Amino acid sequence: MAEAFDLVVIGGGSGGLAAAQRAAEYGARTVLIESGRLGGTCVNVGCVPKKIMWNAADLSGALEDARDYGFDVTTGGHDFPALKLARDRYVARLNELYAANLARRGVELLRGRGVFEDARMVRAAGRTLTAPHILVATGGRPTVPRIPGAELGITSDGFFALEGLPERVAVVGAGYIAVELAGIFAGLGARTTLLTRTAAVLRSFDPMVGETTLAMLRADGVTLLAGAKPTALARGADGALALTLADGRSTGPFDCVLWAVGREPVAGDLALPRAGVKLDPAGFIATDTYQATTAAGVYAVGDVTGRAQLTPVAIAAGRRLADRLFGAQTGRHLDYDNIPTVIFGRPPIGTVGLAEPEARARYGEAAVKVYRSGFVPLYHAMTAARPRTEMKLVTVGAEQRIVGVHVVGPGADELLQGFAVAVRMGATKKDFDDTVAIHPTSAEELVTMR
Ligand code: FAD
Ligand code: NDP
Repeated sequence: MAEAFDLVVIGGGSGGLAAAQRAAEYGARTVLIESGRLGGTCVNVGCVPKKIMWNAADLSGALEDARDYGFDVTTGGHDFPALKLARDRYVARLNELYAANLARRGVELLRGRGVFEDARMVRAAGRTLTAPHILVATGGRPTVPRIPGAELGITSDGFFALEGLPERVAVVGAGYIAVELAGIFAGLGARTTLLTRTAAVLRSFDPMVGETTLAMLRADGVTLLAGAKPTALARGADGALALTLADGRSTGPFDCVLWAVGREPVAGDLALPRAGVKLDPAGFIATDTYQATTAAGVYAVGDVTGRAQLTPVAIAAGRRLADRLFGAQTGRHLDYDNIPTVIFGRPPIGTVGLAEPEARARYGEAAVKVYRSGFVPLYHAMTAARPRTEMKLVTVGAEQRIVGVHVVGPGADELLQGFAVAVRMGATKKDFDDTVAIHPTSAEELVTMR
């Protein structure tokens, strides 16, 4: 006998939790099915433990800088296992907190794997659940290249399982995770090589971002190996790893090889065809403006949809869906334009809106005017290391509406949120110019560019 609910949510990560809780706040009888650890990727093997590791790498830089500020600093090295233990404990507390939050809002948590019977019915943990609304929020997993020996490498999931810092590391990839984890490894003292198949990193962003990031990685001591397409990974008799590349080169020895070549959806074992839910050509669940799938009453949010794979995006899409279905907010949906994002490189990279080439392609060469600023921030005037901060504003039209803000430098992560509000509101260059600067900061450059 099927148990009836108003909403069944499959997946207890950022998107699923947000939708379930918002729906329950409106009084919807909601059950959430989770097969792993509550909180999903972000909490367990993503944003949260990553930011803790980034903080640690950042501190190692700050300890160096402290000498230049007159401190007599000696450290006894870095205790990686101690940091991991503290990090794991914090994440475990979050897991409990999420379970408590669900209980407090009256969402039933069902531990198990959800599988569709049809578009109204899901089976999990030996129970059959039925609801007029079913949400798929099953997220993604790291892609592992299909090459011999790939299993000898790890992914970002394996990064968070490391009990110690490997001495010699190869990171393969050129996106968010490759840049972030290469920076963290290097910051903590590993000899780090970044292998990219082109000569660029972060290609989906403004070119200034990638170029500056490459310079930062180099300054951080990361060895950059461009044009590197791995065809095999093997372990030698001494236990060390070596990569063979498509052009015949080989590179190593490494103690750890990390694949950071993208993520794929977790959708294969949901029996989606039984529900009539179709995938897009890349294998993600196809959704419309309202997060609706091809099956009436079945929705999808978050990474499984392949649209801006970020935690706040999954949360926002989930909450707006619940607002629409149970909060009588007809038409409520997430606008996927102008989503701000930060890549936690060293230093961080903040970007919102259009890259310069995108703006030129969309609005025409003549309509686009770009402002740039590059400088050594005051903090680094005192330090031996002199990394430059780079900023770019992309404007369009006679009124010079700001359509892109791109920043690489210390503080970019925290300053971007406010500028994202301005871009969303349609701010113009004059609005920026008319805003009084805050001195001395890096952010003030964004309102004083000429
Ligand atoms: P997930 O969080 O992946 O949750 C999906 C859940 O569904 C999982 O718990 C899974 O166990 C469960 N599940 C899957 N199949 C089933 C099933 N059949 N039945 C029941 N349960 C199932 N984003 C940011 O915004 N900022 C960051 O700094 C950031 N850093 C990141 C760092 C790394 C290393 C990674 C990998 C990602 C990072 N992200 C970051 C991205 C962010 O983690 C994801 O966008 C976000 O977690 C997506 O949420 P989701 O709900 O779609 O999926
Ligand atoms: P990304 O999509 O950011 O990057 C994947 C990279 O892999 C691309 O840059 C591509 O580089 C490279 N690549 C693809 N295939 C191959 C291949 N066969 N060999 C070598 N390189 C290859 O994916 P990530 O895995 O880094 O991250 C997944 C998503 O998770 C991100 O898109 C982001 O949405 C989210 N995330 C967000 C974070 C944040 O908010 N700070 C942090 C981490 C992840 P190219 O095409 O240039 O060769």
